[in-house]
Amino acid sequence: MGHDCARVKLIEIADSAGRDALPALTPLTETPLSLPEPEKRARLNRVLARLAELGNPSGERAEMPVGAAYGAIQVDSDACTLCHACVSNCPTPALKSGGKTPALSFLEADCVQCGLCEQACPENAITLMPGFLASNARETRHICHEEAAFECISCGKPFATVSTVATIKQKLANHPYFAGDAMIRLEMCEDCRVKDVWKTMIRDPDAQLKV
Ligand code: SF4
Ligand code: SF4
Repeated sequence: MGHDCARVKLIEIADSAGRDALPALTPLTETPLSLPEPEKRARLNRVLARLAELGNPSGERAEMPVGAAYGAIQVDSDACTLCHACVSNCPTPALKSGGKTPALSFLEADCVQCGLCEQACPENAITLMPGFLASNARETRHICHEEAAFECISCGKPFATVSTVATIKQKLANHPYFAGDAMIRLEMCEDCRVKDVWKTMIRDPDAQLKV
């Protein structure tokens, strides 16, 4: 953060002499930092933001050892299908889905480098990057990956991403249950898929077994 190392001092709770010897607040820091947030990480982030504000952050990412509680993740856009398994497993708000549009976003300040997203990703698209970004950019959420929604070929409702449908079709290409017309149902939403199954059964009752 570009501060003199002497700015941070550790004093024991009972060391009142050490506490009294602390330098007086300068005009810039006249208001002591108040930390009302109940979450420890949120309080830590406020302290780091204040240090960045008063210091001279390099803007660089300092390398940290594997297992450090600071860092980012790298998402391979070519592999990510936006399944959001990583979002469901992330114990902090670091990873979020895009809401109304298929997207994955990341906030470095909230990432504790636990690695659960990396382990949960079925496409091996996530790599942990331990390190500390000495800049307020760590407080800015950015999009890791986004893509167009896949619309149901029957009713037009968006129900998945283009890459999810392509991946599932590829994985089930040789599966006997999806031979012939059944494969096309993977391009239908959950409602149209069921309707199409019933239409098939009415036309050909023997098809029930195939269904
Ligand atoms: S990074 Fe992996 S787990 Fe996360 S949305 Fe993409 S494919 Fe799914
Ligand atoms: S490493 Fe942990 S905290 Fe960071 S994004 Fe992945 S699951 Fe979330």
